[in-house]
Amino acid sequence: MNDMNEPWGVEDAADYYRVDAWGDGFFVVNARGHMAVRPHGDDTLQIDIQDILAELRDRGIRFPALLRFQDVLRARVGRLNRAFIEAIEEAGYDNVYHTVYPIKVNQLHEVVEEVLDAGKPYGLGLECGSRAELVATLAHLESDETLLLCNGVKDRSMLSLILSSQRLGKNVIPIMEKYAEFEELVHLADEADQATQFGVRIRLRTSGSGKWADSGGYQSKFGISLPELMRVVDVLRDSDQGHRLALLHFHLGSQISEIPQLRQAARELAHIYAELIGLGLPIRYIDVGGGLGVNYTDASEEGGIRYSLNEYANAVVYAIKEVCDEREVPHPVLVSESGRAITAHHSVLVIETIDAYRKNNADAEPELPGDAHRIAENLDRTLAWLRDTEAGQASVAEVIEAYHDVVDNQEEAATLFAMGYLSLEQNATIERMYWSSCTAVLEHLRALDPEYAPPEVQQLEELLVDQYLVDFSVFQSMLDHWAIEQPFPVVPLARLDERPTRRGMLVDLTCDSDGKMTQYVTADEDKKFVRLHPLNPGEAYPLGIFLMGAYQDIMGDSHNLFGRVSEAHIYADAEEDGNFWIEKVIPGQKVEDILAQVQYFPNDLHRRMQQQVKQKIDAGEMRPKRGMEILDQYKAAFAEETYLVNARVPRKAEE
Ligand SMILES: *Cc1c(COP(=O)(O)O)cnc(C)c1O
Repeated sequence: MNDMNEPWGVEDAADYYRVDAWGDGFFVVNARGHMAVRPHGDDTLQIDIQDILAELRDRGIRFPALLRFQDVLRARVGRLNRAFIEAIEEAGYDNVYHTVYPIKVNQLHEVVEEVLDAGKPYGLGLECGSRAELVATLAHLESDETLLLCNGVKDRSMLSLILSSQRLGKNVIPIMEKYAEFEELVHLADEADQATQFGVRIRLRTSGSGKWADSGGYQSKFGISLPELMRVVDVLRDSDQGHRLALLHFHLGSQISEIPQLRQAARELAHIYAELIGLGLPIRYIDVGGGLGVNYTDASEEGGIRYSLNEYANAVVYAIKEVCDEREVPHPVLVSESGRAITAHHSVLVIETIDAYRKNNADAEPELPGDAHRIAENLDRTLAWLRDTEAGQASVAEVIEAYHDVVDNQEEAATLFAMGYLSLEQNATIERMYWSSCTAVLEHLRALDPEYAPPEVQQLEELLVDQYLVDFSVFQSMLDHWAIEQPFPVVPLARLDERPTRRGMLVDLTCDSDGKMTQYVTADEDKKFVRLHPLNPGEAYPLGIFLMGAYQDIMGDSHNLFGRVSEAHIYADAEEDGNFWIEKVIPGQKVEDILAQVQYFPNDLHRRMQQQVKQKIDAGEMRPKRGMEILDQYKAAFAEETYLVNARVPRKAEE
């Protein structure tokens, strides 16, 4: 793959960017060398993402833009539910399964409505974890059977609202996270003279593993311990209210990495269920929480998910069935709160490349002038030696000695320049030669036996990577990448039939040194860079960042005040040109909208600016006409989108 002379085809691109590992049948490289979506997750229909971009540009939509494939969302809901239906049939499980969709994973109204609609045949419900989510979800319970589970710590007014919804006949189940919450609920229900149903989240012995391990097990932030559970049971039995406890729940945390852990947790909870049934509490639901994993990279990588949807469903169904059969208790309704597994695949962030910064530009290397600086002459000698010696012929020690010479010269140049002893021109020549020398050193080191590779190889590999400046903010659109180093697949959306010859790193627009992608999903051993194509003059180079649908596209914290990006909602349709139609486009947020979120308002800003302009005019430092032009220009910015207008992209529908 790294041999530049080998031919390169679209299969090589699919392999290099690991499309099959994370695409799950929804994404492929097509014969034109473009990324394509298979909205149903099978080969019935294919959409070329370049076609979508062309139509969006025609409509004047700017990038970055988030493409939501509503069909993918529907396909994921279908796959998850069918996996459980199959497991239930195969195991002879004597009850049903329902997904409840935890809206915190992606609260966008259109996402929640699409998931609900796709889940209707399967009796899909919702889960909420805060007051705002409660208010949002309560309005979406169309049928009285639709489950709404309320997790998270709840205050009196939330519990009271939940009780009212129960009185309305809705199937709302508050899940007790703490013993005190249970007392409060019972108190409120008694006061209202109302029977209530509720669930409890149990602190199990079994905990998850990986980044979210602390969500489950004894160390969990949430849940009721077994002694507390026994107190709940006593209170209920004393008042003849045993039927109020409707549901038992655990949550192991996101991205469950091992199936045996899940099986063990399910068995542990099933035993508790069987005990409580034995005590006369007719519990109806077992809720195994979220955590169904999604592969963002190869399954074999750290954090990879090495089980399928079917294995997950089988593990839950069989573990609970076996315990129930052993203990001779009825099979409960099964519930899972799978969020990531439903939403992750459906959205793709499209970003534009503004520029690529190549440190070593060997194409343009002029002769050294006769009066070159001593340091430049030193570098020239080293460079000549590096270039005249055949790769593999110099020893590691010789090459490293040359490299140290290069670094010493570069450092001396920096010192001299800072003291004013070196002209800008001399300094530029030295810098150019420095990068050329580093490149030559690295070529020599790469040609040597990798077993004896000195640490300088790694240093140089990192130093010489190209920086691709892309029009987006890691903090706004990819928070988990920055916060927990979650990798996300990045793939050029076109030119995949062409070998990507540059080693690049994506750096974003924010003025923050953390504003870059530091990990990539590729076939290279070193994941700190991604192979990309050199930019062609005047030609856009859009990149797709995949699997953005869970947590990311909703979590952005407006870092550097980049707002929500533009969006397009795409439906598949075999009858349409290109197999799709665009139902809706939402322009990106305007500057004034994002500013309002942090309490800056156009009137006030304008007034402040006006004062500054007026001072200048009064002092005679500026003509009034010019002052007014500046004010107008300033005012116009309020209505602009927060991202750059990319000069690379021809825009047809503009102005
Ligand atoms: C976050 C959360 C979920 C969703 O988890 P996923 O890993 O996205 O499936 C489910 N239940 C609870 C209680 C949660 O906190």
